[in-house]
Amino acid sequence: MDRIEADAAAVTLFVRSSEVFAACSECDTKSSRVHARYRRSLVDVPMAGRRTRIVAVVRRFKCGRAACPQTTFTEQLPGLTTPFARRTPLATEQLVAIALALAPAAPAPGWPPNWACRAGRTC
Ligand SMILES: [Zn+2]
Repeated sequence: MDRIEADAAAVTLFVRSSEVFAACSECDTKSSRVHARYRRSLVDVPMAGRRTRIVAVVRRFKCGRAACPQTTFTEQLPGLTTPFARRTPLATEQLVAIALALAPAAPAPGWPPNWACRAGRTC
């Protein structure tokens, strides 16, 4: 972890990997050839009632295996990042649990409404 910024409403954690190597997502070959770096911003579960955001500096590596179709790949930070995700796995898990808890066991009478059917929803 690089640093933490916090105010009354939010906490932001700035992190980066300390690993030298990362494994290619296609062929699992380890590489240390960094191609680029960029920031990813991830929503995490609230910390002490404050919105929590993680700003991760991730690296894009060149795959070391000449025959690999994946010429470059982005490292994933275990427990924090998954490809294309905007939330941490824990935040996603909590969101799914809330959605399932709030979802009705059976659709309400009259659902889906006619306007939804006209809008292309399968009815
Ligand atoms: Zn590869």
